[in-house]
Amino acid sequence: MNTTPTVLLANPRGFCAGVDRAIEIVERAIERFGAPIYVRHEIVHNRHVVETLRARGAIFVEELDEVPDGAVVVFSAHGVAQAIHERARARGLTVLDATCPLVTKVHHEVQRLHRQGYDIVMIGHRGHPEVEGTMGQVPDRIHLVETEEDVARLTLDPERCAYVTQTTLSVDDARHIIERLTARYPRILGPKKDDICYATQNRQDAVKQLAAQCDLVLVIGSPNSSNSNRLREVAAALGIPAHLIEDETALTAETIRNARRIGLTAGASAPEELVRRVLARLQELGAAEIAELPGVAENVRFTLPKTLTEAT
Ligand code: SF4
Repeated sequence: MNTTPTVLLANPRGFCAGVDRAIEIVERAIERFGAPIYVRHEIVHNRHVVETLRARGAIFVEELDEVPDGAVVVFSAHGVAQAIHERARARGLTVLDATCPLVTKVHHEVQRLHRQGYDIVMIGHRGHPEVEGTMGQVPDRIHLVETEEDVARLTLDPERCAYVTQTTLSVDDARHIIERLTARYPRILGPKKDDICYATQNRQDAVKQLAAQCDLVLVIGSPNSSNSNRLREVAAALGIPAHLIEDETALTAETIRNARRIGLTAGASAPEELVRRVLARLQELGAAEIAELPGVAENVRFTLPKTLTEAT
């Protein structure tokens, strides 16, 4: 039996347009305003990205109280609650908002539904900053649903209710929850399908295609990255052993023992540089023949805040 493993790369993988934009905002803010620039929460959930920006002069904080008066603060790609915007305004801080425009779109939807008197369901993961930010767009009448079971506990106005979703959910899990919601509340309003973003959808489709051809799947991403965790789960749900790895240092001969076709992908916050390093490590461990699967081309680009693009 040929035991030299081959590697298949998922396509698309890695950075999405929202992550690209968020990182560029921090980089340009440092150029324009000079270090240090404060960033509330990890700009994107990737340790390597955070360390690189920290080395350039970004200071990461969890709370606005940690940002000194007069400083420049960047809000992370996950978005923030209205109360955080208000506090920053009240303190006169210079704010650069790196919230992904696809998250902002959900914020606007929640505000509109609330104004129109709807009870709103947010489908997402408790404690994730995107969920806190989206739920924090309105003062009340928004309910978190994490699982199908949670739907049974809801007490919504059946005539005036709506749902939104976190952008990085498992497409399949979200579908099941939405089916449960519409069975219980047939008149519930929602987006066409869900608010799962193009990047999450494409990466999950690609990892399904990958897992169908591999006997081991490696997902590069940090443990707190929602979309990276979902990629691992999608592969595992297809019965393929799947590991989430931060970088190449997590790999040993044992990790890939008995694997003949190793599938490799990366979450939306994981840089391509880490893919190259993991590939090099796999080659050190004996992998040969690296091939990339075909996949959909992504041409999404988001504009930067005007403050950073206007001439000084
Ligand atoms: S994963 Fe989707 S919602 Fe999140 S930053 Fe990327 S494009 Fe935006």
